[in-house]
Amino acid sequence: MFGFRVTDRDGRARAGVLSTPHGEIETPVFMPVGTAGAVKGVLHRDLEEAGAGIILGNTYHLMLRPGDALVRDLGGLHGFTGWTRAFLTDSGGYQVFSLSALRRLSEEGVSFRSHIDGSEHRLTPERSMEVQMHLGADIVMAFDECPPWPAPREAVAEATDRTTRWARRSRAAHTRSDQWLFGIVQGGVHLDLRERSARDLIEMGFPGYAIGGVSVGEPKDDRRRVLESLDPILPTERPRYLMGVGTPEDIVEAVARGVDMFDCVLPTRNARNGQLFTRNGRLSIRNARFRDDPRPPDPDCGCLTCRTASRAYLRHLHTAGEIAAATLMSVHNLFFYLDMMRSMRQSIRSCRFEEFRLDLLRSLGGAQGSPEPS
Ligand SMILES: [Zn+2]
Repeated sequence: MFGFRVTDRDGRARAGVLSTPHGEIETPVFMPVGTAGAVKGVLHRDLEEAGAGIILGNTYHLMLRPGDALVRDLGGLHGFTGWTRAFLTDSGGYQVFSLSALRRLSEEGVSFRSHIDGSEHRLTPERSMEVQMHLGADIVMAFDECPPWPAPREAVAEATDRTTRWARRSRAAHTRSDQWLFGIVQGGVHLDLRERSARDLIEMGFPGYAIGGVSVGEPKDDRRRVLESLDPILPTERPRYLMGVGTPEDIVEAVARGVDMFDCVLPTRNARNGQLFTRNGRLSIRNARFRDDPRPPDPDCGCLTCRTASRAYLRHLHTAGEIAAATLMSVHNLFFYLDMMRSMRQSIRSCRFEEFRLDLLRSLGGAQGSPEPS
């Protein structure tokens, strides 16, 4: 039912296939974020057309609303949402530490108040596993503590060791054989803590390893050093998932350092704010120069939006506050990300990844809202 195999390598970049009960997924893969059971503003049909094979759901959001027992009773995330391809859920840890109020942290777990209605809740490794087993995603995450950045080294060390103990409890509490449980490597920007975290988790033997506690404000050079130090430690035959990352530039740099899986809200969040990713750089649809521009957002893009909508039309919809603006631009940005991953995989298979990486970094260098050569 589950499997992962690396099929091609180019330098440290890897291309592979991840098998799940809901389909085979080619890696490196980008997973659109469906926070509350839907990718904001986008229909399943459009995600499928864009080539998404796996989407992410947030444990924290779904346990608070509509509640994990209800989702379980309606067939898990697949039955409840109608998405027939793969799902991954996070552990809830990151959101508890970033969104909720009045957290009380102990060895047992975290008590917190909902950011929605102030009601009191508790997440422990056991409860996170119960919620994720109710939600029924294909891939689930061990419960972790995500320390903020910056934080004193002692605090990061404490969070890292607690994450290891919680990973052990998560493993013991997780009993669904139709789900893959990944461990999460913590350790902040401290390479020795990262290494200790990874080695402790590897000893427990997870089928995949996530790298957490990134994209929390740390300098990009620090993140790259962390990835470089983990690359020789993490088992080569297991998938590696860099959580919450990132921009196209961040993703290609992480693939260059051996990462296989990514998720980020950036393509949809930026779309709602009027920013489009194109093969000639980023484009802000609010810019006055697009008022009468009949060209599609990205003339080289084959997405539904670029086949049917002009920049002038999108700018008008966005300015008028029409919901369709968010949908059309989200569809394009997701297509851009998924298409970028397709090209990246192809470049690894044909041993042209370094050329691809340099081309991508060059093409994305365009300033926001700047005109592009037509
Ligand atoms: Zn497009």
